[in-house]
Amino acid sequence: MTTPVTTSAPSDGTLEVTARRKRMLTGDRPTGKLHLGHFVGSVENRIRLQEEYEAFFIIADLHMLTTKNTRADIDQVSTNARDMVLDQLSAGIDPEKATFYLQSAIPEVSELNTLFQNLVTVPRLERVPSLKDMARAAGKDEMPYGLLGYPVLQAADILCVKGDVVPVGKDNHAHVEVTREIARRFNNLYGEVFPIPELVISEITTLVGTDGQAKMSKSLGNTILLSDDADTVRRKVRGMYTDPNRVRADIPGTVEGNPVFLYHDAFNTDRDEVADLKERYRAGRVGDVEVKEKLAAAVNTFLEPMRDRRATYESRPGYVDEIIVDGTERTRVEVKAVVAEVKKAMGITGTYNQLRRKAEQARKRRGE
Ligand code: ATP
Ligand code: MG
Repeated sequence: MTTPVTTSAPSDGTLEVTARRKRMLTGDRPTGKLHLGHFVGSVENRIRLQEEYEAFFIIADLHMLTTKNTRADIDQVSTNARDMVLDQLSAGIDPEKATFYLQSAIPEVSELNTLFQNLVTVPRLERVPSLKDMARAAGKDEMPYGLLGYPVLQAADILCVKGDVVPVGKDNHAHVEVTREIARRFNNLYGEVFPIPELVISEITTLVGTDGQAKMSKSLGNTILLSDDADTVRRKVRGMYTDPNRVRADIPGTVEGNPVFLYHDAFNTDRDEVADLKERYRAGRVGDVEVKEKLAAAVNTFLEPMRDRRATYESRPGYVDEIIVDGTERTRVEVKAVVAEVKKAMGITGTYNQLRRKAEQARKRRGE
């Protein structure tokens, strides 16, 4: 991989070269534990990309407020944040490489959000399809102002660390497009400050729910969690939605779009077994029970190494809290520098400096 290199020439004429690794920024709202949908949509790519990119993972609690903002919701954030980080470490994120941070603990992100709000129009945001879905899912009749601005705040998240790549699931693709537009517009207006971040698309962009709904989602209660134990996985798989027309094992069934087979494709590494099951399913020569038992076994095989890692991390009390706090402090330093650069490029810093100089001169003249 080629590392981008920034050069600066100090006044003594020597050339100072500082290499900066490219960065990945992504994350989740602290609304609950991570599930298989998070894994295929984003976490799998996080694990792959952490080798090449400097990794920043946001715990997006300000984004949570756009649909969940009661005191009870907010009181859940620390527990959910711990769970989310533990889920990611268990899945294979390396705590030595990754930086996790809590969005609300970095107020400069909100400052950047404010500065970005004028680089995008309301009709543009109204065309982002996921926002309407989220409003509907949260039972809102009308679009909250903050929810309309969700992609702008996300642009602030990505650009506050000058993120280069953003691995996210399908519902987030349009948001990253808004980030790219904001970055371009900023650079055109005020000079080259930001990279234009690239979306990293996963193989399965949306995982269906266990109930057959289009998306596995915390708020729909149709998930298999990365932290589920073997019995829970078996129980959830047993209750999964399959081909509704197939009331008996000898009736030929449909494989395409069938959640049970979509999961087999995603998580069963025994390709021959999957091919055999599909063939027999189409021919009406296999019962749902066998298909589901084999799926539960495959999902458990997939989750088993995560369970082992989880046990190791869980045996260290306070470990995850330390990771979040250290990561937040470290990220804040980075974000402060970027926001200072942004305000300088926009001329905002200059405005106040001028006023301050004049005020100082006036004070001096009065002999104060
Ligand atoms: P909520 O139900 O509270 O909206 P969520 O389960 O949708 O939560 P988010 O925190 O909104 O989770 O999403 C985190 C990341 O996981 C995003 O990149 C999103 O695209 C991805 N993701 C979430 N659910 C799925 C899914 N079913 N399939 C693929 N990717 C998903
Ligand atoms: Mg979501």
